Amino acid sequence: MVYKSDPNAIYSHLRKRFGFLDWWPGETKFEIMVGAILTQQTTWTNVEKAISGLKAAKLLSLDKITKTERRSLEKIIRPSGYYRQKAQRLLSICKSIKREYGTLDRLFSLDKTELRDALLSYKGIGKETADSIILYAAEKPIFVIDAYTKRAMHRINPKIGEDISYGELQDYFEKRVKRDLVLYQDMHAQFVELGKNYCRTRPLCVGCPLNKICQYGSASIRRKH
Ligand code: SF4
Repeated sequence: MVYKSDPNAIYSHLRKRFGFLDWWPGETKFEIMVGAILTQQTTWTNVEKAISGLKAAKLLSLDKITKTERRSLEKIIRPSGYYRQKAQRLLSICKSIKREYGTLDRLFSLDKTELRDALLSYKGIGKETADSIILYAAEKPIFVIDAYTKRAMHRINPKIGEDISYGELQDYFEKRVKRDLVLYQDMHAQFVELGKNYCRTRPLCVGCPLNKICQYGSASIRRKH
């Protein structure tokens, strides 16, 4: 049995099963950024409801949102959960961007490291959110690590510890995978699809596209036979 924790090999198995995933919906960069902020601690279905509300109220722009009362914003984004905190943070982030850069395009024109530092300086934007904004809204190649990716990688290769840091796992991918925007976007999407459909808290290894290269999956299937 050959176990493979090379991300490129994993990707090729996932891609064969799931196909190319045209991921992270959003008609504008601003909408994608707002989605990345609202998706914290909730499901995408709830984010979609909040985004639809913002669209219906014609608030999906930096200018419009910064002129909105916090209370009104709370009401509109309520479906996304933690709506008071999220409204306050969204407003504060948008006002800071407006004050410091004027437009989203100017913020996104920073080089990747400067952009990441700027995003991380805003309360409510952690590493995963910052990297999602950089990858999908600013369209610069950076590898996004999420809980699905971390869990699957640990199961595929237990040498990748459960406690591996965000930065260490990001380096692991970025050292091995060609730096390419579409590839990074699709690879992240594939891990999310894997985590939702197979590599769940209780993994469904029998039908998983990685069960021949994953240590945990192979061992669990052997035990069942
Ligand atoms: S084989 Fe099982 S443990 Fe391994 S990635 Fe698939 S679902 Fe997760």
